[in-house]
This record gives sequence, structure tokens and C-alpha cells, in this order.
Amino acid sequence: MSAERKASSIAAYLEHRGKLSAHFASAEDLERLPIVLTKDDLRRNYPWGLLCVPKEHVHQYHESFGTTGVPIASPLTREDLEAYVEEILLTPFDLGGGDLVLVRFPYAISVPAHLFHRAAQARGAAVVAASSYSAISPPARVLRLVEQLGVTVLTCLPFEAVRLAHFARWQGYEPGKHFRTLRAVCTAGEVLGPAMRRYIESLWGAPVHQFYGSTEAGNVAYSCGRGSLHLAEPFFRATVVDEPARSARRDGRPGTLVLTTLRKEALPLLKYDTEDWATLNPAETCGCGDAHAVLEILGRRGEHYDFASRSGKDGKLRLLHTSVKEAMYELALERGTSPFFRCVRTDERLVIRLESEAPDPAAERWLEQRLGVDVELLSVRPGSLVDMASLSATELVQKPKYCH
Ligand SMILES: [Zn+2]
Repeated sequence: MSAERKASSIAAYLEHRGKLSAHFASAEDLERLPIVLTKDDLRRNYPWGLLCVPKEHVHQYHESFGTTGVPIASPLTREDLEAYVEEILLTPFDLGGGDLVLVRFPYAISVPAHLFHRAAQARGAAVVAASSYSAISPPARVLRLVEQLGVTVLTCLPFEAVRLAHFARWQGYEPGKHFRTLRAVCTAGEVLGPAMRRYIESLWGAPVHQFYGSTEAGNVAYSCGRGSLHLAEPFFRATVVDEPARSARRDGRPGTLVLTTLRKEALPLLKYDTEDWATLNPAETCGCGDAHAVLEILGRRGEHYDFASRSGKDGKLRLLHTSVKEAMYELALERGTSPFFRCVRTDERLVIRLESEAPDPAAERWLEQRLGVDVELLSVRPGSLVDMASLSATELVQKPKYCH
């Protein structure tokens, strides 16, 4: 986008800021607008440049870090925070009184821990504010809490659900025997494909409920009983636009997800480029009865590998990082391989280091067939990528003792 167009886009955004509501525009009106706001705009205006309310109306502040390391600010009014919680509560998951929800997201600076905490309490559940991995809350302590308190719901990043379950087994726990009260895992903060979801469900013996959102937008979508993500339509208008024309797609094919917030006050988002690659389809395509559109998040724009096509005929083959991750979890489900891996692309092939006791040529062939590229699967020592011993090494932090 030229500097001139960018300037006019920002001007359009500023003109409309603070005026967004459910009545702001019809879906058709919004579709005619170009992408107005980007993550770079938010970074350049950090922290207060796009604030649309008097600063004294800010009730809570969060921020997130992008890949550039420059934060994106998310100031929230009291009403914004309440709306973020309401977005979580659109879930059909029957969270309620009698539930004990352990929050394993970080409470520092980022927002999900606070939302799950408040949403659980709003439904009458009790909360164990465990936070993310720290000297105070190492995995061993969290597992003891889950077992001894009778935690019913675990909320965390998908990867943390995987790592914590493997740590539990490493410590001698059997989830079905020791965590009998656990009845659900709620995840957010990372793209969760069907294979990773099934893998987490197999580890914990409990269904996974997925939430998709961002610090600056709120909780954009929630999963239904069939595992589809449904758009939180009372709070967002969403379109998927194709690249590079950036026109709205109506054919259900993948494109960039563009969002407009309908109720945000402090920092409303107008035609906001999420940089997420997604599809958007009518609610009926799920068939669960939920009336909100079906959103599928495929990955982050720019997070992919390009390979020359194996057939050599039709140029390049694009492989999303999330597709590789899904394939590794399918492999783990089918062949019992470790979920701990690292990928790097060389000129000709995808090199995957996977924790395993011995080389696995059959798994390598399976991955080549599944991904359509040449794969070199390197076996690395168990514990070399995710070291259970170091996770267990953290001592509980004691309060200082001055008198003995
Ligand atoms: Zn559904």
C-alpha cells in the first residue's frame, strides 16, 4: 500500500473511531470498505495513539508481542472487559456451579487468564489461579492441584496441555486414574487443528473446547460440540479477503481474516487485518444448530515453507507451518510417536527433528506422502527438545524468613 493510501486509511479509521456499534453499518457497507487498520498501525501508535476514549476511562490494560517484538496495546474500558468475557461465554460448553477451573495462562500482561477467570466466576464456577510455568507454579505443583483439589476444567495453551500431560506420565500419573474429576480442557492462544485436538483429548481423556482470539480484538470465535469454530457474531463483523486483490471472498475459500469490532470502545478495530489465514462459511455448514458463521483458522500469513513442486510441473508447493504441525500430531496419533519436534527447511527438503529412541523410516515415508514434499526425519534423544527433568527441577519458592 502506498504511503498516501495508508495515510487516507488511517484518516478514515480516525474519522470512524468511537462510532462503531451494531448499527454502524450493514455487512454490505462494511464489505465495501478496504482494509483500514493493520498490526503495523497499532504498533506505530503504541501505546495511546489510537485511544478513542479519555485515558481516565481505561479500566484495564493488556498488550501482546508480535514477531517483530514491538507490542500491540490493548487498553480496555470496563465495558470492553465485560464484552471480552461475554464473548467467552458464547461457548455452548456447560461450565457452571460446582466446576473448579484451573487457569494455566499467564496472568502477567496478557489477557486470556483474566477472561477465563472472570468467565468461570460469572457462571458460578470456582477458579484456581495457577498462572503459567514459573518458580511458584511448576508443573509438579499444578498436577498436584489438579489431583488433590479435584479440578474439573483445565484452561491453557494447546501446547501446554500436551506438555503437562506428558510431564504427568513422566511423573507416574495416569490421567484416567489420578485426574478423574477433569471433564474438559479449554484452549486458546495457538491454532488448534483437528489432529492436535484429538491428541490432547486422548492424553487427558476429556473433550477440548477451543477459543480463538487476540489481545486487541477479544475472543473472536468458540468451538461447538462438533469441533467447528463459530464466529462471535454479536461482537464482530468478519470477512475473508483474497490476496493480493484484497476483495471479499464469498466462495468459502481461504483468505486473510478481516475483522470489525462492534462493541469495543477504547480501541475499536475497523476492517482490521488479523494476518490470519482463514475460511468463513455459513453456520449451516457445521450442522450443530449454532446460528453463527463457521470460521476455520488455517495459520498465520507468512508462516509457511515454499518448495519446488515434486512433479516439477506447476511451480511451487506452499506448506503452512500449521499443516506440518497437524501432520506431526496425526503421526503421533497413528504411530505413537512423540509430539515434540522442530522443523527447518533446506533447499530441497523439510528436515524434522523428532524425539525418538531410534530412526523411523516408515514415519519418514508417511510424512512425505502426507505433506507431498521430501522429508528427512532425524531422530533426537528424548528430552533434548522438551526436557522433563528440567521442568521438574524447579523448587517451590518460599517466602523470605528473617527470624529463626
Ligand atoms: Zn457447530
